[in-house]
Amino acid sequence: MISFYPGPSRVNERIPRYIKDAYSQGILSINHRSEEFMGMYQRTVALLREKLEVPRDYSVFFTSSATECWEIIAQSVIDSTSYHFFNGAFGEKWFSYTNKLNALAIGYRFDMNLKLKTGELDLSAQPGVICLTQNETSNGTQIDNRQIEKLRQRYPDHLIAVDATSSMAGVFLDFKNADVWYASVQKCFGMPAGLAVMICSPQAIHKALEVNERDHYNSLPFIIEMTQKNQTTHTPNVMGIYLMMRIMESVKPIAKVHQKTVERFNGYRKLMDKLSLSHLVKNEDVRSHTVIPVVGEPTFIENVKKAAREQSIVLGNGYGEHKDTTFRIANFPAIKNSEIQTLMGFLKEYHLQGAEAKS
Ligand SMILES: *Cc1c(COP(=O)(O)O)cnc(C)c1O
Repeated sequence: MISFYPGPSRVNERIPRYIKDAYSQGILSINHRSEEFMGMYQRTVALLREKLEVPRDYSVFFTSSATECWEIIAQSVIDSTSYHFFNGAFGEKWFSYTNKLNALAIGYRFDMNLKLKTGELDLSAQPGVICLTQNETSNGTQIDNRQIEKLRQRYPDHLIAVDATSSMAGVFLDFKNADVWYASVQKCFGMPAGLAVMICSPQAIHKALEVNERDHYNSLPFIIEMTQKNQTTHTPNVMGIYLMMRIMESVKPIAKVHQKTVERFNGYRKLMDKLSLSHLVKNEDVRSHTVIPVVGEPTFIENVKKAAREQSIVLGNGYGEHKDTTFRIANFPAIKNSEIQTLMGFLKEYHLQGAEAKS
């Protein structure tokens, strides 16, 4: 089976070897307060910084999931209001999770075919954290670096938090334009689920220490304190951290990965034009490079997915309101060129058969 599911997704093909290494080297049983763990932790963070171009003064933490990051931000970073701009299911979920913990959260839905426009809204006199879903996995849209930079310029005193779950490690993210970034690893990192990375600016750390929320095992001040010792607040996903270290040793710098992701995205775009497959999002400027939703009649979508399965190709189901009218293709780095060729061959063949059936 070749999986094009946008999470959990195809894992890096070296994962089985790394898991075997972890077992034979005793990593799976090491104590998370040991020198050995702390060394591994430190090295993994250093590699993440290097490969993803994390600014020197930003901090890197591990959590269990993007969902956990929603809660950490709500409890430990947001001290008054948060402004959630979203156009799809994941951004909306983040808003609703936050709203349960913090009644002052405000949600703003925008059209998925339009660029994020915060200009109509003046937040400059209102404090609060601005929350964005950089890559909306449910509908295949993105808010690009330039737009986030503009937001930062307009609101230099606001903290900006960004969900980059289905883009981090797949495309270049300009971290300096926002304060809290996070991603779980079962998307672009090509790893099994159960670990997430959270990247924080000095301003975010400052805010967390000022809010000083200490009511939860995962209160950010505790995480900050433990990280200074290269440790975690609880027994972490040691195997996940080890796999992250090995993956980060092997991947190319993010600029190279980004280039390849965009090239592959353009390849899909050409093919879709040729086969008259429609992208869910009409506005090309807001299309995600890592998640490609193809829209069509429910029977067509169902039939393509079924025919693909028969060829051992797993296409991603649609998500939320687009469940029946789209299938999604993950354009993640761990997918091999040969696998993309197989998918493209299948789509061409399927198109030809359809044309024959009609004539
Ligand atoms: C997958 C996904 C999540 C949820 O990730 P978990 O690891 O299940 O918590 C959150 N946000 C976005 C944008 C996602 O794609």
